[in-house]
Amino acid sequence: MLAAETKGKCAYCESKINNVAYPHVEHIVPKMNRRDLAHSWENLTSACPVCNTNKDTYFDESTPLLNPYVDEIEAHISAKGPLIDWTLGDIRAEVTVRKIDLNRWGLLTARAKRIEKIREMLERWNASSSPLREILAGALMLDATEGEYSLATLAMLREHGFISGS
Ligand SMILES: [Zn+2]
Repeated sequence: MLAAETKGKCAYCESKINNVAYPHVEHIVPKMNRRDLAHSWENLTSACPVCNTNKDTYFDESTPLLNPYVDEIEAHISAKGPLIDWTLGDIRAEVTVRKIDLNRWGLLTARAKRIEKIREMLERWNASSSPLREILAGALMLDATEGEYSLATLAMLREHGFISGS
């Protein structure tokens, strides 16, 4: 979610961006507002067509959308199962979730499927013993981190004590 290091995923919704389609190069601050920033690397990230369309030309100096290059994203938003939640009273987080529509139906069902897949891997890991256990743990962590919707899958793994802290 909103990751600076996108690994081929949309910086906003964490969906894999179709390899055959060019990802929309996303201007966090729209070009029309800051022409000088139009080609600044830090102002560019990848967004899928849906998020890019939802974001449109949103720009509000006092309430900017969360920026993966500047903001500690997990201090603002978190995954509750497949749902993206935000800190109570955090207007920037709420504006970001609602404007980008991070809880749209397609994302809720896709996140639920990913959680279910990682949950099955966790169950298999839990039932295994060494040396398979270590191998499964590595595969599980790699899949949860590199795959789609890692905010949701990592939250589930924390909830079950597979990983600790935040
Ligand atoms: Zn997206």
